[in-house]
Amino acid sequence: MNDGDQRIVCSLCGFEFPMSQARATVCQTCPLHGQCRLLIKCPNCGYENVLVQAPGWLQSLLSKAGAWISARKSRKK
Ligand SMILES: [Zn+2]
Repeated sequence: MNDGDQRIVCSLCGFEFPMSQARATVCQTCPLHGQCRLLIKCPNCGYENVLVQAPGWLQSLLSKAGAWISARKSRKK
């Protein structure tokens, strides 16, 4: 599947960005290095946007988990 041209609108700040750009930049700071298919991180505000269709509570949980993983990684620097 080629998702390189897909554009994401951040559900937190409304910033629009290409998925390929986020995968190549902000997602490289994640331990999964952009291999994750569940989350995409907003380059503008750092919010973990959930890509899958899921109930609101599950999207919220996934977003928090993604933010937690990213925070752990960046704290090690
Ligand atoms: Zn954002």
